[in-house]
Amino acid sequence: MRGLKFGLISLLFCFGMASAHAQANMDDVEIKATQLSDRVYMLTGMGGNIGVYVGEDGVVMVDAQYKGLADKIMAAIAELSDQPIKSLINTHFHGDHTGNNAPFARKGVRVIAHENVKTRLAANEKFDQDGLPTVTFDNRLEVASGAASLKLQHYPEGHTDGDVVVWFPNANVIHAGDLFFVDRFPFIDLNAGGNVQGYIDNVRAVIDSIDGETQIIPGHGTLSKRSDWLRLVHMIEATREEVMTMKEQGLTEDQAVEQGLSAQWKDWSWSFINEERWIRTLY
Ligand SMILES: [Zn+2]
Repeated sequence: MRGLKFGLISLLFCFGMASAHAQANMDDVEIKATQLSDRVYMLTGMGGNIGVYVGEDGVVMVDAQYKGLADKIMAAIAELSDQPIKSLINTHFHGDHTGNNAPFARKGVRVIAHENVKTRLAANEKFDQDGLPTVTFDNRLEVASGAASLKLQHYPEGHTDGDVVVWFPNANVIHAGDLFFVDRFPFIDLNAGGNVQGYIDNVRAVIDSIDGETQIIPGHGTLSKRSDWLRLVHMIEATREEVMTMKEQGLTEDQAVEQGLSAQWKDWSWSFINEERWIRTLY
């Protein structure tokens, strides 16, 4: 079951948009909510995890998963609050986080993202342009909700060039976007401004600003803590060291793939970013 699900997620990643085949599978997706504090929830379904803040006068959500799930996500949020959804924040531009921007925008939800996210979505003819961000920013933004506000910080050149981490108010909770894949090789989108060293630096910068009790909604995987995130950084640094050594020994990229990483990293491999793809990213 687990393997099957990863397989499907991988397929969707590869093709970006939900194909007819994948669309049929959307019917089976269940959106599940987990309460993290008085006003903060994490929703899982298919695609990047969703964060929900139930404010005094409206709901703010972070990320929107794959296209085709908007009705289910709206229904799940309606279970948590009678308030209207006011804002949707995108942690970055990938389709498994922005796929339902348009149906939410058509309901009057304002879409907020880093300016590079808007640029990339505007250039993608497969993206429903109704879902383009209407509020963009460069470095930091505070999104007011009642008397509180969510804090958004841009981190350049990590997973993409438009990554944003979100701090929820009055709760020790953050949404890390795809700067956090739990116990899996991360996708670092080198074709969209992603960078391995930047990814490490950005994760370390966020980790320095949180504590051991902070609840972290990862882009992909289960609710986590700082120690889980450090495990990812250590893996990236150690595997990069292995690939650098192979490179220094004169191995080509293909030869490095053939030699492989040491056995301790086997469990980090998954269908979308398997060991080969991770080695090629590092190389
Ligand atoms: Zn992503």
